Amino acid sequence: MEVVIGKTAGFCAGVKNAVEIAKKELINNKKIYCLGELVHNSQVVKELEENGMITVNSIDEIPDGEKVLFRAHGEAKKVYEKAKNKKLEIIDLTCKKVVLIHDKVEKESKDSFIIIIGKKNHPETIGTKGFAGNNSYVVETEDDILTAYINFKKTNLSKVYIVAQTTISSNYFDLLSKKIEEKFIEAVTVIDKTICIATELRQKETMEMSKDFHIMVIIGGKNSSNTKELVKVAEKNCEKVFCVECSDELNEKDFLNIEKVGIMAGASTPNNSIKEIENKLKNYN
Ligand code: SF4
Repeated sequence: MEVVIGKTAGFCAGVKNAVEIAKKELINNKKIYCLGELVHNSQVVKELEENGMITVNSIDEIPDGEKVLFRAHGEAKKVYEKAKNKKLEIIDLTCKKVVLIHDKVEKESKDSFIIIIGKKNHPETIGTKGFAGNNSYVVETEDDILTAYINFKKTNLSKVYIVAQTTISSNYFDLLSKKIEEKFIEAVTVIDKTICIATELRQKETMEMSKDFHIMVIIGGKNSSNTKELVKVAEKNCEKVFCVECSDELNEKDFLNIEKVGIMAGASTPNNSIKEIENKLKNYN
């Protein structure tokens, strides 16, 4: 069986940076708090926790004066203020690309209504909305556009600035931004497609691979938004797509008489997980 790993599979620059800095910090510190899961990969998180990282869901859980990691997804502005009040030492691992979006929406919100196309409950979207302020709305589905429009009409703004959660599908962003433009007909609309290039390239390669391979194995955390998008992309062309976090989830009988298997991995998947799965698949023959 031929097993091919996609060139764009695995850690993106933002996640790589976050994990490397967290590891370095943990060498010199016995304990560091992390606000939310550092990356959507349980193996990576487990390893860091074994070295002293403590994952918490709320900043209120962290005792005053301690060190805290802010992950690559970024945090809302009020979280920075709260951390300051608690005299926490912040190790800010927010990806540079996300920081740029925060800066843009904060600046544009002075005279524009901000629309973020993305998942309402995704930490990155929550953080970005926190910088966009009250005159903003998250559009996750077409149904949200009307509510966004009603909220926009309550303001006296005439401009709309649209950005994206960095990991959503490119086609989906194009579709929703076009519909928003049509609905907000009287407004001046600026579409700023802030999807991360690493995400776009990975989705494109997954699309191409899924046309050629009999089975696609997508590796990534169960909570990982970009991994779920890769599964959706692969399913458009490939009949058998398996989404797994580790090699134990693979089943040899699914690969009987299969000639070509493609592997793609989300942005939070470390190389050793990819290699482990490649080796297991190669041993099936
Ligand atoms: S997917 Fe892109 S924006 Fe998000 S953390 Fe990775 S490099 Fe940064």
